[in-house]
Amino acid sequence: MNKDFDFDTIIVGAGTGGLSAAATMKNSDSKYIVLDRKEEVGLPVRSTGAVSLEWVKKIGMPTDPRIIASEIYNMSFRTEKGKRIDLTFDHPVGMVYNFTKYERYLSEKFAGTLKIKMKTRVLSTHENVVQTDSEELTARNIILAAGPQSNLGNKLGKNEALVAYEETRSLDERQDFQMILWFSNLAPGGYFWDFADSKGTRKIGVCYYPVNGETPKKILDKFTSKFPELQGDIVHTMAHQIPLTKPATSVISGNHYFVGDMVNAVLNTTAGGLQGAFWSGKEAAKAALENNPEKYQRVWTEQIRPWLQKHNDLHKKIHAHGEKTVGRYITLAKVMPKSMKMKVFGGL
Ligand SMILES: Cc1cc2nc3c(=O)[nH]c(=O)nc-3n(C[C@H](O)[C@H](O)[C@H](O)COP(=O)(O)OP(=O)(O)OC[C@H]3O[C@@H](n4cnc5c(N)ncnc54)[C@H](O)[C@@H]3O)c2cc1C
Repeated sequence: MNKDFDFDTIIVGAGTGGLSAAATMKNSDSKYIVLDRKEEVGLPVRSTGAVSLEWVKKIGMPTDPRIIASEIYNMSFRTEKGKRIDLTFDHPVGMVYNFTKYERYLSEKFAGTLKIKMKTRVLSTHENVVQTDSEELTARNIILAAGPQSNLGNKLGKNEALVAYEETRSLDERQDFQMILWFSNLAPGGYFWDFADSKGTRKIGVCYYPVNGETPKKILDKFTSKFPELQGDIVHTMAHQIPLTKPATSVISGNHYFVGDMVNAVLNTTAGGLQGAFWSGKEAAKAALENNPEKYQRVWTEQIRPWLQKHNDLHKKIHAHGEKTVGRYITLAKVMPKSMKMKVFGGL
């Protein structure tokens, strides 16, 4: 512990990025704290919680069955006009977390109970000083994991973020697919989704570049009104932004380490940011333990950013084409494992 400061590291944000960073610090001698403005860890729900199992295992995200709402064996990419690619696997290739349980698990059971102070809004950070709404704290390192809509980070431009809106609807479990994505001219740059959730509910949502001025709720209702199988009572709603642009080039500034949505650590092909947030949070913390921001920048530049950039390039090729996107998904399907069975309908 450096005696000149209150903490070795202050982590701003108790989402995936911040909790992953704190879990990495937990078993060291380092004095850290996580600050978050929310009332509770895991609430409000921030994400559908769908992740690829391959990456979950590679970067060490938790797979405890108690936090998994469903496993994905069968997925389908569609247009509302009947074009369709179905992918079926003989093993789960993805899963959907119960999001609240997942974040609570990260904060309590993943690495042991973490040091977190909730109901604490960070107003500003400058050099070693973190100004909260109740006190001034100092730290040698500051990890910023405050998500896409924070007062602290790089603001996203108009065409650099998707609007995302989801309704958990009271619907029976599907017997055919645990994940369906529809590409439609109603959702430019994104898609509509239907994900398996817990028994009796499914997650129905949409993400898109906000170009047409209609509210996300209206767009979702307009789309789902065409499909009786998607209509059910609303149990829960969630709305947020998803960064969808090139990953940042620089992720450090002095003793500040930026992770997750703040640096666009989102896989643009799926608009999934949990894996990028978890991985960048972990690497930022490993570097902060050595007071070495350049180490994090190197891992970002050499490993994390190229992975994200590949997805950004693919997104530019296959998305932003509305319903034509589904045909372009063939490109993705071709790199899927051999154990997968693919069926194409509707003359793509
Ligand atoms: C509707 C929707 C569905 C999604 N579905 C998926 C999915 O299925 N799979 C997937 O991989 N990704 C999904 N994403 C994206 C994913 O949720 C995000 O990329 C991920 O949560 C980013 O994690 P993070 O740690 O960077 O930020 P966040 O999870 O946003 O955490 C940031 C934290 O910082 C806190 N904070 C912000 N400002 C301050 C402040 N000034 N002071 C104190 N605390 C502050 C916030 O309260 C928050 O807890 C989805 C996103 C949306 C909106």
